[in-house]
Amino acid sequence: MNAKRLSERLACVASFVKPGSVLADIGSDHAYLPCWLIQNSRIDKAVAGEVVRGPYESAKRNVAKEGLGDRITVRLADGLQAIMPEDGVDTVTIAGMGGTLIASILEAGAGRLADVNRLILQPNVHAKAIREWGAANGWRLIGEAILKEDRKLYEVLAMERGHAAYSPEEMLMGPFLMNERTEPFLEKWQGEAAEISRVLDRLSSSAQSPEASEKHRQLSETKELIERVLTD
Ligand code: SAM
Repeated sequence: MNAKRLSERLACVASFVKPGSVLADIGSDHAYLPCWLIQNSRIDKAVAGEVVRGPYESAKRNVAKEGLGDRITVRLADGLQAIMPEDGVDTVTIAGMGGTLIASILEAGAGRLADVNRLILQPNVHAKAIREWGAANGWRLIGEAILKEDRKLYEVLAMERGHAAYSPEEMLMGPFLMNERTEPFLEKWQGEAAEISRVLDRLSSSAQSPEASEKHRQLSETKELIERVLTD
């Protein structure tokens, strides 16, 4: 993968970016996503934010190499602090991290989202944390995707401002994804149910502390919920 050829995962994130958006890509690392979006005439300008110096330097190098220094501002900053009011950012992408970290970045920087109307988030795990954050903070899902690349399954969530209520099943598995029931979706949740079964077996065979019993109860509930959706 490079700025000329995106991974399928980042191409899926890119597919949710509206043409003409002003983008902030947070945790941009190499800045491949903003470079690709500009070089393919989807957007005109972007901010690439990175909190770690190594990836920040790598983003700066790539942006310079691609001759995009006047279109992409690379900032060394924690989370949404990379966004300045004068940037006019209306779309934020955060990809390649855990869902809990993505939700905590959004929570910590909520004040920087004043002009933002679309969030495109690609958690490697725990997408539920993002759906929960969105529902509690006035963001509703407008689309979701799931794909498999290099034997890993990835989810992409797109949200806009608004309110929506989700069932426990939808929070965990995604309302759009549940509806579409693609191959990667079925594979992901069959795998999750099998993993929960293994943990339940281990818990059942060990001495039962109150914490272990509670964990057993919660996991059994989650497994039943997943199996209900899979057999629907
Ligand atoms: N977004 C790219 C992608 O999807 O290919 C890079 C993903 S990389 C695994 C995650 C990047 O997020 C790392 O470069 C890390 O330094 C950065 N990161 C983690 N926490 C961050 C934060 N609070 N603010 C900005 N960047 C962060």
